[in-house]
Amino acid sequence: MLPSNVEKILRLVEKPGRYTGGELNSVIKDKKTVDIRYAFCFPDTYEIGMSHLGMKILYSLANARNDTWCERVFAPWKDMEEQMKCKGILLYGLESGDSIKDFDIIGFTLQYEMCYTNVLNMLDLSGLPVRSENRKALTPLVIAGGPCVCNAAPLAPFIDIFLPGEGEEVTNELIDLLKEHKKKCSTKEEFLIAAAQVKGIYVPSLYDVSYNEDFTIKKIVPLKGAPERVEKRIVSDLDNCFYPENFVVPFLEVVHDRVTAEIFRGCIRGCRFCQAGFIYRPIREKSAKIINKQCKALCDSTGYDEISLCSLSTSDYTQLKPLLGDMLEWTDSEKINISLPSLRIDNFPRGLMEKLTGVRRSGLTFAPEAGTQRLRDAINKNITEQEVLSTARKAFSGGWISVKLYFMLGLPTETMEDVEGIADLAQKVVDEFYKNPDKPKGKTVSVSVSVSSFVPKPFTPFQCEPQDSTELLLKKQKHLRD
Ligand code: SF4
Repeated sequence: MLPSNVEKILRLVEKPGRYTGGELNSVIKDKKTVDIRYAFCFPDTYEIGMSHLGMKILYSLANARNDTWCERVFAPWKDMEEQMKCKGILLYGLESGDSIKDFDIIGFTLQYEMCYTNVLNMLDLSGLPVRSENRKALTPLVIAGGPCVCNAAPLAPFIDIFLPGEGEEVTNELIDLLKEHKKKCSTKEEFLIAAAQVKGIYVPSLYDVSYNEDFTIKKIVPLKGAPERVEKRIVSDLDNCFYPENFVVPFLEVVHDRVTAEIFRGCIRGCRFCQAGFIYRPIREKSAKIINKQCKALCDSTGYDEISLCSLSTSDYTQLKPLLGDMLEWTDSEKINISLPSLRIDNFPRGLMEKLTGVRRSGLTFAPEAGTQRLRDAINKNITEQEVLSTARKAFSGGWISVKLYFMLGLPTETMEDVEGIADLAQKVVDEFYKNPDKPKGKTVSVSVSVSSFVPKPFTPFQCEPQDSTELLLKKQKHLRD
């Protein structure tokens, strides 16, 4: 239930549906009956946060507990932020409309570095001191998880607890521990000292870090019994790991508006720029039977007519054929589309294409990442131009007319020749369509090229490589467009 002053400002902002809550499958509880109130904060807009699978999993996982009410919080867009500041409205949970300042846990997911300023802004909009040391009470406890936590240092002064690794198990352990310490009326410090003993919890305030003159780390001294080395948490068995039976269905269009089925974690490849490929090791598959069952339950509870089989590299899933066979038994008759993002070019099998002939042909996405063989070898992306073109040929013969190619600019050792290679390769894919006698009759092809800029990531072989300057990236982008 939104406070009346919020309702008034909703008329003044773009896309008020971002701020109302009340969507199908959102969870409403009686706040008097729960011990822990948890604000799950996505530090970006509603449309982006509502597309994020990790948030859906952890929201449902926390709400599956009778003692906890988890609500969603997104970064307000600038117009809403202005109105909130002007009317003195603090950042609130979408389910209750209550200010998150009074919650027990404020949890951020850190998916990309560009959202760090949003984290600070959201804390400020909540009416809380942004620095951890200035928040003296036990609650709200500010925690953060997600891939960026593998380099937690930039946000360490602002976050009470980081959760490196996968959140499913450690979230429950953290809630249990906080509940116990709330009951005991522990101080924040007493709680943090106890929390640091849990595997997968990093308490930055319990480490004294000194630096050399060049800002490299000189020494890290753990304090008050904190472990010397914090180990990330990994879920070992995906079949028995929590997965939601429903997703909140948004009122407005979001980036990924469909059922998302996670089919495995990790990646068998080792592309040198790719943080996900390194930090989500080892590879763990979910069984086809469980995935099929979860997809059916999610389609039934949401009404979605599209399922995305999601992972880092979907065609590396060893049970893809039996899975598609099981799914087509019911998706075909219910007119539900199956989409396969994150396909590798070198192992996209013809048989798989045939399996998909019964479903609507959504676009295919491939990621050659670099335009020339030299640069693909340098980044350890072991695919050749021939493989790109032969897969495109197979896809066009199989009826596809839309292909998305993902590349990066600014990779280490890149030259303008490599940049030109992106345009050349895309053109060759287009040519492959028109010279293919089996191409879909009377259709034209759509090949879109998406080019993002390389960011050196921690825990990858390229972590110490420099990043291109803005000027150089703009120059390369212009050259590519020309
Ligand atoms: S870029 Fe893709 S294929 Fe390469 S390691 Fe990362 S997830 Fe795996």
